[in-house]
Amino acid sequence: MKRDDYIKQIADRSLIWDFVVVGGGATGLGAAVDAASRGFKVVLLEQADFTKATSSRSTKLVHGGVRYLAQGDVSLVVEALRERGLMKKNAPHLVKDQRFIIGNYKWWEKPFYTIGLTIYDLLAGKRGLGRSLPMTKKAVECEIPQINKTRLRGGVVYHDGQFDDSRMGINLMQTAAEQGALVINYAKVTNLIKDDSGKISGVNVYDEIGKQPYSLKAKVVVNATGIFVDGLMKMDAPEKDNIVRP
Ligand SMILES: Cc1cc2nc3c(=O)[nH]c(=O)nc-3n(C[C@H](O)[C@H](O)[C@H](O)COP(=O)(O)OP(=O)(O)OC[C@H]3O[C@@H](n4cnc5c(N)ncnc54)[C@H](O)[C@@H]3O)c2cc1C
Repeated sequence: MKRDDYIKQIADRSLIWDFVVVGGGATGLGAAVDAASRGFKVVLLEQADFTKATSSRSTKLVHGGVRYLAQGDVSLVVEALRERGLMKKNAPHLVKDQRFIIGNYKWWEKPFYTIGLTIYDLLAGKRGLGRSLPMTKKAVECEIPQINKTRLRGGVVYHDGQFDDSRMGINLMQTAAEQGALVINYAKVTNLIKDDSGKISGVNVYDEIGKQPYSLKAKVVVNATGIFVDGLMKMDAPEKDNIVRP
């Protein structure tokens, strides 16, 4: 991976890229891996460091979406558990098992959570990280000495995944590069280029290190700018309302 070489390649104005991905967080890096591994010509542009924004500031859980189970969205949980298992298999240096204990204060909570979390385990199948089990009050107090003991009845322990979000992003970036994508940090997209019919046909980008602007032609521009999504959307249609707000 050589940034200077990548910059030389994007300077060639005769090239038309299959995909220009804007944003080097989890979404953009994943999109770049996906497209490059299918043989497309891909450039990913990130205005700061890779994973500088939300993708290095998450709670760092690779969860199978246990809360969606409570909402009855079983297919989403099955998909998330499958992805959790694949992440553990493909990146065992980044994903590990994390035990959680839910303290119970009402009589129905222990059977409720034990049954619910056992269903969660069963949905994970052979990719499960460990079995959910009920715990006595004494065992919960022993594991969490600071827990509120007033009316504590016991608990349930279950397993989910924990990961290093930023490192995962950096590994995705390396994989994208291995697959032939140009991944360029400190490259801020400043506006979109449109063809005569008004269709987006490329981007203008500013190299913050070389202090040079470049124009890239692209068949597809992917907006993977996370919470900054409106910045790019406004480059397309300034009159549109924001879709993200604090
Ligand atoms: C508090 C919190 C906790 C979370 N916990 C978890 C968790 O435990 N597990 C989990 O799986 N998910 C979690 N998430 C969700 C997860 O972090 C996000 O879904 C994910 O990081 C979003 O990635 P992204 O690539 O879409 O956005 P980002 O990581 O924000 O990336 C967008 C990138 O676009 C770049 N960019 C913006 N404008 C431009 C431009 N003009 N030119 C070039 N680049 C530009 C930005 O610099 C940024 O790097 C959590 C989220 C939050 C907020």
